Amino acid sequence: MPWVIEARRVWVSYVDGNPVLRGASLAAERGEVVSLLGPTGSGKTTLLLVLAGLLRPEKGEVLLDGTDLYSQLPGARRRIGLLFQNPDDQLFNPTVYDEIAYSLRTLGENEDTIRERVAAVARLLGIEAILERPPYRLSMGQKRLVALASILVYEPDILLLDEPLTFLDPDAARRVACIVRLYAKKGKTVILATHNVEAAAWLSNKTCILRNGVTHCTTPRELLEDNEIIERLGWLHPTLRLAKRLARDNLWRLIEEDRTNLEEECKL
Ligand code: ADP
Repeated sequence: MPWVIEARRVWVSYVDGNPVLRGASLAAERGEVVSLLGPTGSGKTTLLLVLAGLLRPEKGEVLLDGTDLYSQLPGARRRIGLLFQNPDDQLFNPTVYDEIAYSLRTLGENEDTIRERVAAVARLLGIEAILERPPYRLSMGQKRLVALASILVYEPDILLLDEPLTFLDPDAARRVACIVRLYAKKGKTVILATHNVEAAAWLSNKTCILRNGVTHCTTPRELLEDNEIIERLGWLHPTLRLAKRLARDNLWRLIEEDRTNLEEECKL
C-alpha cells in the first residue's frame, strides 16, 4: 500500500535562490496524525504548501496514493484541506455561514444539504452563535475555528493544518485536538505544523523535525525521550523541559493517559 500523501526528497527555493527545503521527505498514511516540528522559518509552511499542491518543488516528488500529485490537479484538491497559518488569508465571504458554505456551493451542492452540513460542522466547532457575523469582525481564535469549519465541511481525506492551536483558548484548543484525533480515527490523514512539542507528542503517531531543509522522523515517544532535543533546543517549550525533569520516565505515560482521556471526551 502506498502512502496516502508523500513528499520525497523535495527541494524548494524562493527568489533569493537559497533553498528552504533541501531534500525534505514526509509521508503519512490513513488514520495517521503526523506532526511537523521546527523553529520559525525552518520551512514547515513551505512543506505544507508543497503537499497541498500549491507549490511545485524544483526537485523531488510529491505523491498522492503513490501517483504524482501535481498531475492529479485540480481534481485532487477536493481530497486535501489546508488550514493556513493566518486565518485572515483564508476568509473572504460576507458572513461566517457563507464562508463555511462556500466550498459546497462551488461543488454544486443543493442549499438544503449545505444548511445541514454547515449546522453540523458549526456544532462540532462550537460556533453556531456566530454564523451570521462577518468574519472580519471576529477574534483571531474565532477566525481560526471558522477557517477550520470551512475545510471540514467538505470532508477532505487529508487535512494539512498550519499551527492549528495558535490563537485558541484552552477549551477551543482541546476541541480542535479532539477533532484531529477523531479525524484520524475515521481513517483520514492529518499533517500538522507546530513549534509546540507538547502538542505534537500529544496528538501524533509520528513526529518529524525539520531542520536545515531536511526532516528527521521519530515516534512521539522517541521525541520525548531524546534528552538532547528536550534540553538543548532553544525553541522547545520551557514547560516541557520542566515536565521532563519532574516526570522523568513517566512523561510519555502521562501524555498517553491524557490522549486516552481526550479520546474518551470526544466519544471516539
Ligand atoms: P515556517 O513555517 O517553518 O516558519 P516557512 O516555510 O514559512 O517556515 O518559511 C521558510 C523560509 O522561507 C523563511 O526564511 C521565509 O522567510 C522564507 N519564505 C517563505 N515564503 C516566502 C516567499 N513567498 N518568498 C520569499 N521567501 C519566503
